[in-house]
Amino acid sequence: MRRLKGQSSLLRTGRLIVVSNRLPIALTRGTEGEWQVRSGSGGLVTALSPVLRDLGGLWIGWPGTVGKTHPDEDIFKVSRNAGYSLIPVGLTRKEIDLYYYGFSNKVLWPLFHTLQSNCNFDPAYWAGYQAVNRKFARIIADSAKEDDYVWVHDYHLMLVAKELRALGVKCRVGFFLHTPFPPPDLLTILPWRSQIIEALMEYDLIGFQTIRDRNNFIHYLEGFVKGVHVDTRRQVCTINTPQRQFRSGAFPISIDFKEFSRRAASKTISKRAERLRTAIGANQVVLGVDRLDYSKGIPERLKAFRNALERFDDLHGKVTLVQIVVPSREEVSEYQGLKIEIEGLVGEISGKFSQPGWTPVHYMFRNFKRDELLAYYRAADIALVTPLRDGMNLVAKEFCAANVDNSGVLILSEFAGAATQLRSSALVVNPYDIESTANAIYHAYEMGPGERRKRMRNLRESVSKRDIFWWVDFFLWAATATSLNKPGSPE
Ligand code: UDP
Repeated sequence: MRRLKGQSSLLRTGRLIVVSNRLPIALTRGTEGEWQVRSGSGGLVTALSPVLRDLGGLWIGWPGTVGKTHPDEDIFKVSRNAGYSLIPVGLTRKEIDLYYYGFSNKVLWPLFHTLQSNCNFDPAYWAGYQAVNRKFARIIADSAKEDDYVWVHDYHLMLVAKELRALGVKCRVGFFLHTPFPPPDLLTILPWRSQIIEALMEYDLIGFQTIRDRNNFIHYLEGFVKGVHVDTRRQVCTINTPQRQFRSGAFPISIDFKEFSRRAASKTISKRAERLRTAIGANQVVLGVDRLDYSKGIPERLKAFRNALERFDDLHGKVTLVQIVVPSREEVSEYQGLKIEIEGLVGEISGKFSQPGWTPVHYMFRNFKRDELLAYYRAADIALVTPLRDGMNLVAKEFCAANVDNSGVLILSEFAGAATQLRSSALVVNPYDIESTANAIYHAYEMGPGERRKRMRNLRESVSKRDIFWWVDFFLWAATATSLNKPGSPE
């Protein structure tokens, strides 16, 4: 089994307790309406499972259902198979509405993605958020021992360390924010910003996706919190306040590169990709893969593609955009409006440019299985990854990992966390700049095989060097190293 540096230093101390909004399980209804529980399959689960198994750890989170509609025995069964314990946090309809759909997704998500016009600062959401964070903390406190390490994930649970301290829990607690962190000017809009910052300062390590996010946090502390002293010379820095000392760093999340690459190169996926290309029928396939979310810039991307078709006649009949949109948060009204806008633009582009034998946009609104998605990644000549703001964007990294023949071009938004790492070999665009994005599509279309190969090799090397295992290792090292000056940092 893979042995991580951070993991082995933890081994000497205690267990790892991972806490996230959702448990890493997939719940589906069986033929008779009964719940069926399977373990999840995302990158985070793949990376954390061996560590949790090795340390006899726990994963605490909401199973995704209302109330306690699924039997706990099902979750215990999945726990036994996973080799570590899953502990469910049951939430009522009201808690889900206030904490999850309300504060998390109508306040923090838009604000942290610098899209404040989508925010709704309803005080009831804040009360619900505090109550559910307290609930999570109580469940963690029931399990945590003094030498355990609690690793809390994402914007849903920023108050957990403070609540744990209030309950007298002494163990070390770390936090990783998967979304961006906004600049101080924007954070000041949030009516409860001081409470959130004070709560974050109770963590022992706060991880961000990029140095820019980490610096936004530090600049807020320096500007608005008295007596803070920060040493920013390293990627992981120490923050001193009159009360305590804690750490903060940039830990760019990634994917299981080897597994993506291996599977994408398989005969099954290669054949599937070939069949897709024949069915699509264009000389070059441009691919977009996104959850339905206004932060992903899907309408802006469609407008850029329309602009490219308007200005570059030689793309007609030659280039097809395959846009996959994965259903998400459809209970939030902004998301319903976004779907209507996307479908309007797809219809307009098709109406204006379609010819017999050529459809300019293939639009699909559904979930794809991993192998299907890999076949699309391999079939694509150009990936159009243009979020208005994104913590990292794993689709960009997955496209590179799947591009085993080094023939694809990555067009990447400068506002995706992934751009920090991939900017030198991707075509970097401002997604708000429709004409420049259209120019980038044309540039990618015209790019010769030599330049494509050079760029894609660099991209693949960069993603493979810093994969999801490196990320876990780096975070746990920063969480447990006695001195940040010591060698051994995976940085
Ligand atoms: N994905 C998926 N099903 C699909 C399409 C995509 O599970 O039908 C996955 C994709 O492989 C990627 C993730 O969804 O791992 C999207 O991650 P990203 O960081 O790009 O955006 P997020 O949705 O987390 O904001």
